[in-house]
This record gives sequence, structure tokens and C-alpha cells, in this order.
Amino acid sequence: MNESYWIKQNQAKQYPKLDHDEHVHTLIIGGGLCGLTTAYYLSSVTNNLLVIEADRIGYGTSGRNSGKVTVQHGCIYQKLIKKHGLKTAQLYYEAQKEALESIASIIDEHHISCNALRKDAVLYTNDDTRIAQLQDEYQAYLDIGIPCEFLDSQEYPIAYQAAILIKNQLGYDPYAYLLGLSDCLDQEGIKIYEHSPATAIEKDGSGFKVSVNGHLIYAQNIVSATMTPLLDGFTFIYAKSYPSVSHIAMMPISHSLSNQMLYSIDDPMASYHDISQDLLLCGGYEHPCAKIDHTRYDEWLISLQKAWKCEGAKAVWDSQDLIAFDHLPFIGSLSKRYPNFFIACGFSKWGNTNANVAAKLICAKLLKKDSDVINIFEPSRKYPFFQAQCFHMNMKTAVNFIKSQFPDVGDLSCRINEGKTVSLGGRLYGMYLDENEELYLVDIRCPHLGCICNFNEVDHTWDCPCHGSRFHYDGSIIKGPAQSPLSEYESDGHNHVDSHETLHKAD
Ligand SMILES: Cc1cc2nc3c(=O)[nH]c(=O)nc-3n(C[C@H](O)[C@H](O)[C@H](O)COP(=O)(O)OP(=O)(O)OC[C@H]3O[C@@H](n4cnc5c(N)ncnc54)[C@H](O)[C@@H]3O)c2cc1C
Repeated sequence: MNESYWIKQNQAKQYPKLDHDEHVHTLIIGGGLCGLTTAYYLSSVTNNLLVIEADRIGYGTSGRNSGKVTVQHGCIYQKLIKKHGLKTAQLYYEAQKEALESIASIIDEHHISCNALRKDAVLYTNDDTRIAQLQDEYQAYLDIGIPCEFLDSQEYPIAYQAAILIKNQLGYDPYAYLLGLSDCLDQEGIKIYEHSPATAIEKDGSGFKVSVNGHLIYAQNIVSATMTPLLDGFTFIYAKSYPSVSHIAMMPISHSLSNQMLYSIDDPMASYHDISQDLLLCGGYEHPCAKIDHTRYDEWLISLQKAWKCEGAKAVWDSQDLIAFDHLPFIGSLSKRYPNFFIACGFSKWGNTNANVAAKLICAKLLKKDSDVINIFEPSRKYPFFQAQCFHMNMKTAVNFIKSQFPDVGDLSCRINEGKTVSLGGRLYGMYLDENEELYLVDIRCPHLGCICNFNEVDHTWDCPCHGSRFHYDGSIIKGPAQSPLSEYESDGHNHVDSHETLHKAD
């Protein structure tokens, strides 16, 4: 996967790999915005906690997002009112507003250098048929009491027919902000371990025993801030949400967007955030995980090049998030059986504020403080199942699963940088030939729930279409929910095959 601009820009401190057993009151799994913010708030009351991260902190979605910290989350408010009522929509808005100000205060208080700037957020349409939808969103803002302005058409710098503007939001570098949070944790003496994936979680008395790098962490409480929860406990989060990918291209520009962060409700969607006078982050080309279409991806990049009159993007990367079918994140205890296992996910690509909301609510729960808001995010709620989209997407997942068991196996030759599915000895493998002409063969049955992964032609990865796990072509894990790599073709310690009777380079 391509590194994000934010990750390339910043010099990150390295944390050690866990190489011993640990006993701790609260274990936070996941070093993204949700995990580190939870650790940040908790560290003000206890330092009996630690954070483990499978990769490097911020290398998940958090260090790869568009950097908009705003209460304006697409057309969410009309949907929340329709599906959950005005009171829930108000609670959601109040929580996001408070999160935005909390993030601004953390940045101020700890002098975190993350290019934070107050900006206006603009939701717009340039499509006649969507003006009514934007007006409905405006009405929802008025009903909830969100201060905003309805704007008439403009041509420049981005053409639109109508828009809603909210003042005084925030733009920032999410990765630099995360590094700032990790500095705060260092100062409080909170331990962080990188390259330390949780690979198994078992109940241990009233707490848990977690396997990490061949060692054990004993913890009374666990916060699974892993985007996809590491335990499901019959909450069926996988069936109540789906992983969605978007791409971000950094385009050189000759004029800034006048301190505005824009989001279009048109199809295809577009998101813009100018991070300096001459650089614009353009978000777009959304698709379900493992369903990338190389042609549409190229068309998207060419359209940006034309729109911004430049020769090409300075950097392009992608990332994914869990979208909740009923538009509310899942935050809280996993279930009655697991009251001290907390999850936070389903931020629907608005996690800059939602991660802060989740962190505060989980801390309140851990400290046994009551809160009205947490009830609306209850992970075990059944409501997402009653959404038509839920039925449709889950049927698709089931059909994908069945289809994937009978793939077109093709011939056994492979071109450089090509990934193919082949059947060998009655099993399905993913074959990939790298630039050094080494052939990699991995079992592409996802270790999570057994779906067959698809080859991603842009990133050269194996991606699971069912729940969004991703693997390098050599089988090593990029992201869960799978907790182990794709297994190798041969068990001799090598996952590549230099020469094989039947597998060969295509002419
Ligand atoms: C393209 C894109 C643009 C976005 N732009 C915005 C935006 O402008 N504004 C906004 O508000 N939101 C945005 N979002 C959403 C936001 O980035 C996410 O909601 C948020 O970053 C999620 O944070 P997280 O901590 O839950 O997940 P992550 O940042 O993914 O962190 C989870 C971490 O858990 C680790 N992990 C997973 N499994 C294990 C394990 N077994 N053991 C140990 N560690 C593990 C992972 O390695 C990862 O680092 C965007 C999302 C996308 C996809």
C-alpha cells in the first residue's frame, strides 16, 4: 500500500516490540486515533495501562485520512432524524461538537504541531436532482440547532449549485496529531509497543489473556480500538457494517480553497481539503473492499488532473473504514458476557471526531460514570439489521463467499506484477510474480472467516471482499480483522517458489 503524505512528512519515534509478559489493568489494542485518544484520557487517572499496535502507530486509517475535523458528516443529520429521531440526532451532533473542541484544546494545551487551522466546512451539490436532498439536510440542521448558512451557486474555486456552510471547524495533519498524543503518553509513562499484534484473546477469570509475539498480556479490561473488533461476542458487527475504501490524491494547485473544506454529495462523491497554498487533498473513488476497478481508478485520477490543470498527483494512497448501516458508530461493552471488553468502530469515514467521542465514552464507562450518549451507540443494537442496505450487502457477501469457492482458475503462467488465483492439489492459491521474477504462492482463504481474497491490481495486495482484511502478496498481514497471515504454499519456511514445474513466467 502507498504511504500517505502525512506519514512521509513526519519523523516518527519508534516504539519497541513486546518481548515479555505483562500484567495490566487496561490493555488498549490499536494505535490509531481511537486507541491513543482512549489512552490519553485514561492516563489522567491511571498509568496502569498499555497500548499495543500490530504495525506502527498511525499506520492504519488514522494516518491516512483527509484531515477534516468537523461536525459536518455528509448528509447524516436528515438520516439520523428519519431513522433514530430528533433527540438522537441532537445527541450525535453535540458529541461531535464537543469532540472538535476537545481536539482543539488538546492541540493547544500540549503545543502539538499538526498544522491545525480553523476552517469552514462546506457540503455542496452541483447536480439539479440533489438540491432537494441538500435542502432536507439544511432543514435537519435547523431542527437540531446547528449554526449554518445556506449558500447559492458559485463557479469558483469549486462550482456548485447550492451548499451548506458551517464555520469554525478544524483542518489538521492527523498523523502529526497522533504523534503528539504519543508524546503525551510517553510523558505520563504509558508504555506503547509497536509490531505487537494481538493474535489470540481468551477469558482468564474476570479478565483476559492476550497472546502477543509469543508472550502473554493479562488484563482486567480490553479496549479493542482496531477498526474491526477482535471479538464479536454475538454482536454481529460484521453483518451490521461493511468496509469501504476511498482514495486520496494530493494535487498541486495554483489557488487555495479560501480556508474551506468541501464535500460533495454527488455521485461520484468528492472531498477537498487544501493543506497549503499549493497542495490540495482530493478524496474520491469509493468502492467496497477488494472491488477496485483499475479503469475507474485511472479515470478518477485523469479527471482530477483535468480539473486542477496539472500534470498529475504528487502522491496517491487509499484507506478504508467500517460504515455502519444505521449511520451510528458502535461504542461500548461488547456484550453482557464481555462487559469489560470495549469496542469502538463504524465511524463511517468520520473518525477524527468520532474517535474522540468513543475515547471519552469508554473512559467514562471504565470509570463507572453514567452517560446518556453512550446508549445511542450500543454495539448490540439490532436496528442496523432492519436497513435495506444491510440485507442487500449481506446477501452480496454471502454470494461472494459462495462464488469465491469456485473461481476461474485460469492457466498457470504469470506476468510480472500480476496476481492470479490457481488451483493446486485441490486448494486455491494466490500466485504473484514480483519484479525480481520470484514467484509467491499463498493460500488466499482469509484466516478470518474463510472468504477467498481478490487480487488488488493497484496495490498488489490480496484483499478480502467479505470483511476487509488485507495482505501483502507474500501473505503477510496489512490489516485485520484477520489476525494471522495467509499461509504459505510450502511449509519449508519460504513462501516464494523460485522454480516450479507447472508455474512459470508468462511470455
Ligand atoms: C480515505 C479516508 C479519508 C478519511 N478522512 C476523514 C476525515 O477527513 N475526517 C474524519 O473525521 N474522518 C476521516 N476518515 C475516517 C477516519 O480516518 C477513521 O474513522 C479513523 O481513523 C479510525 O480510527 P481508528 O483508531 O478506529 O482506526 P485505525 O486508525 O485504523 O487504527 C486501528 C489500529 O489497530 C491496529 N490493529 C488492528 N488489529 C490489531 C491487532 N490484532 N493487534 C494490535 N493492533 C491491531 C491497526 O494496525 C491500526 O493501527 C477517513 C477515512 C478514510 C478511509
